[in-house]
Amino acid sequence: MHKSQEKIPFWRVKKLNQMNSEEWESLCDGCGKCCLEKLEDLNTEKISYTNIGCELLDVDKCRCKNYAKRDHYVPDCVRLSSANISSLKWMPSTCAYKLLSEGKNLPNWHPLVSGNTDSVHEAGMSIRGRAIAADDAGDYEDHIVQWPK
Ligand code: SF4
Ligand code: SF4
Repeated sequence: MHKSQEKIPFWRVKKLNQMNSEEWESLCDGCGKCCLEKLEDLNTEKISYTNIGCELLDVDKCRCKNYAKRDHYVPDCVRLSSANISSLKWMPSTCAYKLLSEGKNLPNWHPLVSGNTDSVHEAGMSIRGRAIAADDAGDYEDHIVQWPK
């Protein structure tokens, strides 16, 4: 196929606020990083990541165990939108929503680009093998990590 006839992917054509729900959801690369517990310093308002998964996070699959009802079980779960993504400074720099909101493209390891849902894990960009369940955590302050950002 001639280069000019190649189909341009939807994330290069549409703005985040123009995407339908299927397109929006498909942008999540499944890294699981934003579902790690975070600690906020009340004096500086600095937010630090821990390697502890949210109570609904399956740390092996890197997915929410009840995504449809997450608001019910975890009321402070932040629902991402095109309106709030730019203001969520703690979102990982690798997050597809953050990248697109900053005018950047998706990386080669993103499943939409690679065509392989495991490519995010194979590239070492997910929480796989690095996160623990909340029940195993103990003191959260002992689990502050830098790698999710
Ligand atoms: S950081 Fe972004 S890409 Fe990764 S799981 Fe969260 S929403 Fe999905
Ligand atoms: S409720 Fe689900 S989507 Fe929300 S932070 Fe927890 S694991 Fe992630």
